[in-house]
Amino acid sequence: MKHHICQSCGMPVLSAAEWGTEADDTPSKDYCWHCYQKGAFTNPFATLHDMQNHILRIMERQHVDSREIYQAVNILPELKRWEKPVRV
Ligand SMILES: [Zn+2]
Repeated sequence: MKHHICQSCGMPVLSAAEWGTEADDTPSKDYCWHCYQKGAFTNPFATLHDMQNHILRIMERQHVDSREIYQAVNILPELKRWEKPVRV
């Protein structure tokens, strides 16, 4: 696990309880509980682009500063889930 951020959505994971769960209920080492539960992604986006749009919409709804949105969206390509291009 690097930097304690979710390797799917890029959000900081601040406590152990915020990690997702594997199929056998052990905590995930990579993904937060918003993204990953019982060993599967809760948001099965096919592409990085879909995830970026998703994050964008959430942050705009929360009236997050546009610079922070830009940073959040641009960290996504470095995350484990999006390292390899996903086939649609
Ligand atoms: Zn996440």
